[in-house]
Amino acid sequence: MTTNDHMMGAGSKKESAIPAPFAGKRQLKAEDELSFGCHAGLPCFNTCCHDVNIILTPVDVLRLSRRLKMSTTEFIGQHTLKPITKELQLPVLMMKMSKTEEKACPFLTDKGCGVYEDRPWACRMYPIAMAVPPARAGDEEPEPIYFLLEDDFCKGHGAATKWTVEKWRRDQGVVEHEDLEKCHREIHSHPWFIGGIRHLNPSGMEMFFMCSYDLDTFKRFIFNSSFLERFDIEEELVEKLRTDDVELLKFGSRWLRYSLFQEPIIKVREDAPKSRRKK
Ligand code: SF4
Ligand code: SF4
Repeated sequence: MTTNDHMMGAGSKKESAIPAPFAGKRQLKAEDELSFGCHAGLPCFNTCCHDVNIILTPVDVLRLSRRLKMSTTEFIGQHTLKPITKELQLPVLMMKMSKTEEKACPFLTDKGCGVYEDRPWACRMYPIAMAVPPARAGDEEPEPIYFLLEDDFCKGHGAATKWTVEKWRRDQGVVEHEDLEKCHREIHSHPWFIGGIRHLNPSGMEMFFMCSYDLDTFKRFIFNSSFLERFDIEEELVEKLRTDDVELLKFGSRWLRYSLFQEPIIKVREDAPKSRRKK
C-alpha cells in the first residue's frame, strides 16, 4: 500500500492524462517488466497497511460487505469515508483507517491482511497504480495508463522475481473481475463528461452513489418501488436481480447509463402508470 491513491481519473475534473499524484512516476505498459516480491520475511511486512488512502471500487464494497456479512449500507457507514474535493465530479469511497495513532487498516492482522481473498483492488495492484485518461468523442474506452510506485518504505522492489504489469494483475486476481470493474469505470470516463463542463445534479450524484456502492439500497429501489411497473426489464433478469449481486452491480451501471446519460438501453413499459412515465 501507499499513501497515494492507486486509481485516478475516476470522476476527476482534470483533463490531464496524468493525475498530479503520479507525476514523475515511471510509466508502464501492460507488457513492461518490474522486479518485485512481497512476503512476510521483509522488514516492511504490514507497515504499508497503515495510514493509507485506499479508494474502493464498487466491486470492493460488494465483496468486502459480503465477506463481513454486512449490508452494503452498513459497510459504507462503518468502514468508509466520502472525501469531498473540488477535483471530483463523482463521489468516491475511501477505506476508513482505525483511529489509533498508527492508523492501521481495520482488516490488518499480525499475519497480514485479514480479508486477503477479498482485499480491495488498490491493495492487489500495489506497487502499480493506474490512471484512466479522460473520455474523448468516439473513444469508447480510454486505455488505462500504469505507473510504478517506488515508495522508500517498500522493500519489495528489486526482488529476483520479474513480472510484467499484465502478469502481476493476473497473479493478484485483478483480471478475473476486470469486466465488472470496467463497466463501472466506464461511467466515470463516459463521453457525457467530455471537457469537464457537465456536472451531475445532486439527485444524479445520489443515484450514482446508490447504483455503484450501496447495492442493497439499489435492490430495494428496484423491488420496493414502482420501478418494475415503469420499466420493461427482461423477466429472466428480474429474477437474477433478486439473488445475484454481480447481476445487480452490472444492472446498476446499465441503469446509470440510461438515467444519467440518456442512453436508450432500458425501455419504458407501454402500460407504465402515466404520471410516473419518464418519457
Ligand atoms: S485490506 Fe488488507 S491489504 Fe489492504 S490495507 Fe487492509 S490489511 Fe492491507
Ligand atoms: S514489500 Fe511493499 S507491499 Fe509488501 S509488505 Fe513491504 S511495503 Fe508492503
